Amino acid sequence: MGIFSGLEDIVETDHPLAKRTWYGLGGPADYFIRPQTTEQLKDVVRRCDENGIRMYVMGFGSNLLIEDEGLRGAVIKFEAEPFAHIEFEGHEVTAGAGAELSKLVLTCVEKGLSGIEALTGIPGSVGGAVRMNAGGNFGDFGAAVETVTLMDKAGNIFEKSKPELVFDYRQTNITAKFILSARLKLSAADPEQVMRTVKEIWIYKKNSQPLNTKNSGCIFKNPRGVSAGALIDRAGLKGLRIGGAVVSDKHANFIIAENGCTSRDVMRLIEAIKQRVQEQFDVELELEIEIW
Ligand SMILES: Cc1cc2nc3c(=O)[nH]c(=O)nc-3n(C[C@H](O)[C@H](O)[C@H](O)COP(=O)(O)OP(=O)(O)OC[C@H]3O[C@@H](n4cnc5c(N)ncnc54)[C@H](O)[C@@H]3O)c2cc1C
Repeated sequence: MGIFSGLEDIVETDHPLAKRTWYGLGGPADYFIRPQTTEQLKDVVRRCDENGIRMYVMGFGSNLLIEDEGLRGAVIKFEAEPFAHIEFEGHEVTAGAGAELSKLVLTCVEKGLSGIEALTGIPGSVGGAVRMNAGGNFGDFGAAVETVTLMDKAGNIFEKSKPELVFDYRQTNITAKFILSARLKLSAADPEQVMRTVKEIWIYKKNSQPLNTKNSGCIFKNPRGVSAGALIDRAGLKGLRIGGAVVSDKHANFIIAENGCTSRDVMRLIEAIKQRVQEQFDVELELEIEIW
């Protein structure tokens, strides 16, 4: 471990990534690194850079499909307390990138703060929710985010705030590699009322998504004005199976990984869906999940 000598406590080699993702699929990463401090993160980034090691930042792996061969490079995960800290100040909250989104939503509700209850039922970390501008029918994370603290590959830490910080459907204009934290602007509300909204959204999710399966949420982005799930459904693809990968009967934009499924099965099913939707509706579906 010459490249990371002295950092053996936080660097694992040949680390199986499957257990780090919601899909539970895919091979190992050359390096899996959990920095404990910002200084350590900078050190890791410098060493990766000097040795030409490609870096990946992983949140909770709820929007990722890892290839069966795994990946050549270093996966960096913000798990340690300094990266997962949540701090309230009046109607504002600053949450570390490694904080769990669902925990943040519930803590805000308990404190009578409204603004992110739309994120109910969306798994993942705060960093992942910023990067993906996670959301759905009820609203998205970007609506509440005022400022993000970022770090670039050179180790420079800086903030980006609205209006320079822009969120769009499942994307942002953040180009820095690392999202360290996000500051949210919320508003005071009756905790019981916000909790009622949370429950309504949760019931909606439970009824419309195959939540107790291995999946990665929506596979495709919704093309402008249309639901990708509706197109896949209308193409008659619910239940289509390749190997252990199957299109959910409950929500056609979800691909479920059943026993024995490989990432290759999911990727082949993705291609089959894209082809059929293209042929039938002349629509090119774009991936929402990331394949590493
Ligand atoms: C059952 C289920 C339901 C879902 N429902 C929804 C939904 O309703 N709406 C929705 O939008 N999504 C949904 N998703 C997808 C997923 O939950 C979101 O995209 C989530 O925001 C991803 O967060 P994560 O921490 O798991 O990120 P990961 O999957 O680990 O990573 C996703 C991307 O974010 C980047 N990233 C993560 N952390 C950082 C960081 N600190 N700095 C820089 N980049 C970072 C990664 O590099 C990667 O590019 C669902 C997924 C599942 C499994």
